[in-house]
Amino acid sequence: MDLVERAADLLMASRLTIALTGAGISVESGIPDFRSAGGLWTKYDPSEYATIEAFVSNPEKVWEMLREMGEVVGNAIPNRAHIGLGELERLGYLHFVITQNIDNLHQAGGSRNVIEYHGNASTLSCLSCGRHYRSSDKASQYPPRCECGNILKPDVIFFGEAIPSEALSRSYELAQTAQAVFVVGTSATVSPANTIPSTAKRGGATIIEINKERTHLTDTITDIFLQGSAGTIVDEILNAVKRESAGSNVRL
Ligand code: NAD
Repeated sequence: MDLVERAADLLMASRLTIALTGAGISVESGIPDFRSAGGLWTKYDPSEYATIEAFVSNPEKVWEMLREMGEVVGNAIPNRAHIGLGELERLGYLHFVITQNIDNLHQAGGSRNVIEYHGNASTLSCLSCGRHYRSSDKASQYPPRCECGNILKPDVIFFGEAIPSEALSRSYELAQTAQAVFVVGTSATVSPANTIPSTAKRGGATIIEINKERTHLTDTITDIFLQGSAGTIVDEILNAVKRESAGSNVRL
């Protein structure tokens, strides 16, 4: 049995399967991860632009990066990996996606149970007076400002900020009880999201990792490593699940 079939079998046997996704799953949608050569992040060093300290001390400068990222994300459409995970959820084989991404592509790809660990760029908040706005309502203003005059911050988690408490507790709870975990397109270096796979492993889950490159998880806690692009591998798993379901005449 090949690794894709093993992964499909595990999914079909698991009562609770979650996916932890990172920037790599959206690379095929044209959104660069932190590693792509020549991408957004070679121009804007995340340690200089993506920290809360940077935003508070110079929001105009950080908005240069946010505006460019907003254009890239705004033009992106879900790829086969997002759509495949949505389809696995629809078929009842994937129960939650926990994403570190802020690009909304899982929802656009059909996933309904999405936990946005690092928030979402579709809303803005004022760090001074606490007012909230929809980003679309401020699209014509750059940088977007609150009624009080302060520059608004998108509701995404910058380095140095706390994870939204509900996302944090729900993800931890799911990690502890999951029987299988997909880890897709993440270097698993950003904390605390990177504790989700190890928490799940300690609880007895099988870890299925999909990545173009090996990560520090690959030789430590990963049970099945599927090397390649997320779109291709998720598609292969989806097809294997459909074949096996049809063969055993279960569900489909
Ligand atoms: P990362 O950039 O540290 O790692 C990306 C991983 O994806 C790497 O291990 C890489 O080998 C892998 N990868 C790249 N292309 C792939 C593909 N086509 N198929 C499979 N794997 C592929 O990203 P991270 O671990 O998510 O951490 C970076 C932080 O920045 C996170 O908070 C992340 O969400 C955020 N970020 C988000 C976006 C977005 O919303 N799309 C984009 C850039 C960064």
